[in-house]
Amino acid sequence: MKLAIVGIGYVGLVSGACFAEFGYKTVCIDKDAKRIKSLKFGKCPFYEPGMDNLLSKHLKKTKLLTFSTSLSDSIKDADIVFITVGTPSKRLDDEADLSYVWSVAEEISQNIKKYCLVVTKSTVPVGTSKEIKKIINKKISQDNFDVVSNPEFLREGSAIDDFIRPDRVVIGTENSKAEKIMKELYRPLYLRETPIVSTSIETAEIIKYASNSFLATKIGFINEVADLCEAVGANVQEVSKAMGIDQRIGSKFLHAGPGYGGSCFPKDVKAFSSTAKKYNVDLTIINAVHEANQNRIKNIANKIIKNTEKKSILSFLGLSFKPNTDDIRESTSIKLASYLYKKGYVINCYDPVSISNVKKEFTRFNYFNSSY
Ligand code: NAD
Repeated sequence: MKLAIVGIGYVGLVSGACFAEFGYKTVCIDKDAKRIKSLKFGKCPFYEPGMDNLLSKHLKKTKLLTFSTSLSDSIKDADIVFITVGTPSKRLDDEADLSYVWSVAEEISQNIKKYCLVVTKSTVPVGTSKEIKKIINKKISQDNFDVVSNPEFLREGSAIDDFIRPDRVVIGTENSKAEKIMKELYRPLYLRETPIVSTSIETAEIIKYASNSFLATKIGFINEVADLCEAVGANVQEVSKAMGIDQRIGSKFLHAGPGYGGSCFPKDVKAFSSTAKKYNVDLTIINAVHEANQNRIKNIANKIIKNTEKKSILSFLGLSFKPNTDDIRESTSIKLASYLYKKGYVINCYDPVSISNVKKEFTRFNYFNSSY
């Protein structure tokens, strides 16, 4: 089976390298020529543990992995084309910006030469994959392609392991032909008895948003409990440990902190709620989670302001949105630092992997080469 992956960010590159690890010939396509040039030399554009080794193995030894800027050349003989471009929030509202998805769908429609699956791995609102189908169908007859939703659940920082040992794989299809091809694709996971959940396309799209929103809800929940613990002299870490032992609750995503950040939860929670509004459904819990998370930074900043002298020096250890990644999108650490900088504090920073990314965007902080 030959694979093509369009959009080589965190998800696209991890998927490409891991599909090569499964034994598939995989071409990775991105419009960013600089990114593709350095990838051809085996240089990963971001920090992800294990990625350098995997790249070197499949670029040089197995030669299963190739990189290109040209979608037209690369998808000609592909059996499956994955869409893994970004779906950030729109600038002025909570909806997902699907412009990258539409533009790739358009380009795919101009270049399909034989039957293939077009698979959405990007996180997209319900209905998007069917829209992709309509776009492609304007140029390509329905016999020559099928659309599939195959949402991705990997976490940055442990992305390779998550891809190779996922908790489950979700496959949303419209017919048994597409389902059969997708199941064949993930056959290497059968040995591990990975659950493969086959659903409709709409259900698969919802599963992704519901999962991320639920995890965000757990974080929001324990943060509110933390506030109460602080007010009454209880210990939230002990509360969360004891709660987490209960298997109905589970210990993951139950650690109090400065709120969730990153490239997924903030935008996905907002997009989920925004989609629901379009269908006249009010996701009150999800809306409250978003609002509580927005307030969390301000509340923590105000505690710092109340307990320190103005213009004191604050040191931030860790700037990415979580450990083991250099991704600084929606980092709560940086949001907190920026808020306090505006209030007159001096901000000193250190992060072992993300510091160069932060330096480019935030020139007013002081940067150091070690935590000491
Ligand atoms: P990213 O921003 O890191 O990468 C997107 C890539 O797509 C960029 O390299 C960009 O140059 C490329 N691109 C944009 N338009 C293109 C076009 N027309 N042709 C070719 N390439 C194009 O994005 P990401 O973090 O990998 O996320 C991708 C999707 O996966 C999003 O929908 C996200 O919500 C979802 N997702 C992300 C994660 C994660 O941890 N990052 C996890 C699960 C799902």
